[in-house]
Amino acid sequence: MATRKQAPSKTKKGAGKATKKADVAPSGLPWGREHFCLEYVKDGNATRSAIAAGYSRNSASEQGYDLLRNPQIKARIAELQREIAQELKIEHADILKRMWDTATGDPNDLVRVERRSCRYCHGVDHQYQWKTEREYRDAVNAFLHGIAGNDHKALIALGEVIDAGNTVPGMPDDEGGYGYDATAAPSLDCPECFGEGVTTVQLSDSREAMSHPLYEGVKQTKDGIEVKIADRAKALEQVARHLSFFKDEVKLGASAELLEAARKINAASPPLDPAYMRDNASRLMDDEGGT
Ligand SMILES: [Zn+2]
Repeated sequence: MATRKQAPSKTKKGAGKATKKADVAPSGLPWGREHFCLEYVKDGNATRSAIAAGYSRNSASEQGYDLLRNPQIKARIAELQREIAQELKIEHADILKRMWDTATGDPNDLVRVERRSCRYCHGVDHQYQWKTEREYRDAVNAFLHGIAGNDHKALIALGEVIDAGNTVPGMPDDEGGYGYDATAAPSLDCPECFGEGVTTVQLSDSREAMSHPLYEGVKQTKDGIEVKIADRAKALEQVARHLSFFKDEVKLGASAELLEAARKINAASPPLDPAYMRDNASRLMDDEGGT
């Protein structure tokens, strides 16, 4: 804490010299000096900072020079620079990590394209195979309603035809049997798909997907559900751009270890090595949590 001096006769021009009780900042410095320090860490320009802090424009250059030699002010500036470096470190490591996760994310976590058996692959004599008897009954009912509509009499008449052992033309049959397994592999002998099966797109559960770095939501289209996936190439470009930005920011007066960390990350490219980059991004964050 700065000791308060009573020096009423020693009036000089310049607001920063006044040390009334109310003028002391939490740092212990008079507000004028605190203001000078806060300005100085922005760009390292002492004259501009002195003017901004309310010192006389005419003597700002000398004032700035004198202020910088003051041990309390020196200490305060060093302290502010440390704080800025810490903030930069967290912010940049954070942004970098998010972008990197996007750039290296695996879209297969969200959407998988798989080949699966078709309905004829494993049916008896490669005829259409139903999943269950119930599925078959539902299909027959749908077919009959398609013919008769809601006309009960017509439905009963159709039922009688079927019960008599006759078939209604076009009605589904169950000669391919039951037990269709949509996850089974295609059959190479299948006369319908020739072993190619059907291509299915598997979407991951949206609650899981939401935390995935590539997930940008789903869209209902006329062809089904479309999963919006982040542009990985763009993310990688952002990482590269951010790394040089990172370096520039560091030049403004951040700590030596931050500079070193940035240098190491930069040394990893080109070529960009995913493992190295990921390690460095998280190491920056670990440093923050550590001592
Ligand atoms: Zn097939």
